[in-house]
Amino acid sequence: MTNFHDPSRRAFLGAGLAAVGCGIAAPALAAPRRLLLPKGKPRALSFYNLHTDEKLHVTYWKDGRYDRTAWGRINHILRDHYSGDTHVMDLRLIDLVHDLQTRLGNDRPVDIISGYRSPATNHLLRERGGGVAKHSYHMRGMAVDIRLDGTSLSHLHNTALAMRRGGVGYYPSSDFVHVDVGPVRRWG
Ligand SMILES: [Zn+2]
Repeated sequence: MTNFHDPSRRAFLGAGLAAVGCGIAAPALAAPRRLLLPKGKPRALSFYNLHTDEKLHVTYWKDGRYDRTAWGRINHILRDHYSGDTHVMDLRLIDLVHDLQTRLGNDRPVDIISGYRSPATNHLLRERGGGVAKHSYHMRGMAVDIRLDGTSLSHLHNTALAMRRGGVGYYPSSDFVHVDVGPVRRWG
């Protein structure tokens, strides 16, 4: 019976309990296998803001989730350059721009003509008569006006239309295409 108090035997029992613990934890051990499931390639975007001369390259989606820091940086470069106001940009819009570039096979920086617009800026632009909508999706962080170096404006326009992911406006005289994640529609 003295063996029962033998420290080495206690150590052995402890190891046995640890083994039982492993058995109980079996479902948790299966977790790493889930991590190996394909989740898609990381999504990156590059922007160039024509008004502020800022550049940005970020991986905004990785391992099945959006990166909040990257999202914040995108919100910043797409801010209202008149007022400096920032707005949360719709992630569907960010994905739309990303997917548009993927379709075009062009990963050059997206030139930003206009991103978010505060109500005051939208009102100002309307008064100037630039064909600005009263309830513009720009005011909701759901629209961007863009062009893409290395892709003709008409090709960018037609590709955006083919995706049918929202509104598409064509502004060849100002050299940009408007895309938004509102209802599917077209003009220009
Ligand atoms: Zn627009």
